[in-house]
Amino acid sequence: MATIKLEIVSPDKVVYAADIEMLIVRATDGELGVLPHHAPLVTGLVPHAMRIKIDGEEKLVAVGGGFMEVQPEKISVLASVAELPEDIDEERASQSMARAKKRIEDYKAGVEDINIIRAEASLKRAAARLTALGKHIE
Ligand code: ATP
Repeated sequence: MATIKLEIVSPDKVVYAADIEMLIVRATDGELGVLPHHAPLVTGLVPHAMRIKIDGEEKLVAVGGGFMEVQPEKISVLASVAELPEDIDEERASQSMARAKKRIEDYKAGVEDINIIRAEASLKRAAARLTALGKHIE
């Protein structure tokens, strides 16, 4: 089967690098599947669980947003944060989600001093992590 190189880099390390069959991401303008020999492009990524098809199986990687550059032979993802499922602390993500939901409810109820943009972004990161663990449907 044809493959394409994938490298996912976070600010402090290379999180994942392999020859893969397909990558499915949530870009700023919608979901996108990237196969070998895809046309070159650069796009922003929103927080989500990326789906990697490799050796006939699917792997998930949580990303907190970033950019993706596609070249015919290589996909580069530069993520603000990225974690493989085995590196995700489920309890921490669940607590982060509960905190963010509470802040959003409080904001809607008129509580002042709540940064709604920050709360919504935090909720999306937590949802991405729990989805990568198979504990949440985004
Ligand atoms: P929290 O509210 O729990 O801090 P967050 O979404 O605000 O979550 P980030 O700012 O996205 O956290 O990440 C900060 C650092 O903590 C990054 O290095 C990230 O990989 C790590 N991190 C955050 N949440 C988790 C988690 N549930 N499991 C593993 N690592 C995590």
